[in-house]
Amino acid sequence: MQQVFKVSPKMLAQMKAYYQANTTTPPAGALFRAKKSAVTITGYQSGKVMFQGTSIAAEIAHWHLEIPTTNSQKTTTGTLPAHFDQLSVIGSDEVGTGSYFGPLTVAATFVTSDQVAKISAMGIQDSKKLTDPQIIKMAKELLTMVPYHVVNLMPSKYNALIKKYNQGQLKALCHNLALQKVLQKIAPTTPDAILIDQFVAPSTYYRYLKGQSPIVRQNVFFQVRGEQAHVAVAAASIIARYVSLQAMDELTDQAGMTLPIGAGNAVDQIAAQLLHQGADLSELAKLHFQNTQKAQEILRKHY
Ligand code: MG
Repeated sequence: MQQVFKVSPKMLAQMKAYYQANTTTPPAGALFRAKKSAVTITGYQSGKVMFQGTSIAAEIAHWHLEIPTTNSQKTTTGTLPAHFDQLSVIGSDEVGTGSYFGPLTVAATFVTSDQVAKISAMGIQDSKKLTDPQIIKMAKELLTMVPYHVVNLMPSKYNALIKKYNQGQLKALCHNLALQKVLQKIAPTTPDAILIDQFVAPSTYYRYLKGQSPIVRQNVFFQVRGEQAHVAVAAASIIARYVSLQAMDELTDQAGMTLPIGAGNAVDQIAAQLLHQGADLSELAKLHFQNTQKAQEILRKHY
């Protein structure tokens, strides 16, 4: 990525002096050019300074320069620290909470600031628009690039736990566990921040976790549409969807028929058909959904 600033003649001179030891040949018209770590800094007589590279945020921060935020960034990053999208962040997201068939899957991943540009360039931030084959391809690539942990509650496990916890609580427990595991994997490195794709108010989230040990809460932020605030959440979302797709394939084999996603009428019909065949829905579906009763009604009336 690249960012251009207009600085005072005094600061331009300070920069030239500061980067002296890292100087390379300046391009035509430039006052100086330096390469420091993975960042190229070019200063022009006009006072323009350009930072280029994969992790320019730290270098820019050194000069206390403000990266201008666009309006769209403002609305999505809300209360997050400045330049949040460039930080090294653990992100977490879940999939399957609204789907009758299949597991509840929560994934967390750690993306360092050095990786942000490369992973963003994969186009993963529009995960809702991606097809299943695209998800699979991207996930396989991501799994080789980032530390991650997935908590995948298959229906039988989910149905056992949902007797004790409500769905929001279950989600909170899974996020907390996934975050813990990634923190352990990357230790002694610590992330600049942790971003949870928000599904309840933070106060509710922590109430759900009451009595758990440990509770991950240091530098934890919550954001609705978190995948737009940091690519780590987008990566977590892709990985969760990938694991969920694999689980759905397994369950489809087990059921002997394609299991639709969601919780609509098509789901009721398939569930009724499965009941008719004597299948054990507790191994395929989230039984506390209304779909269970609806399927039983269909079974009574039509089979
Ligand atoms: Mg989410």
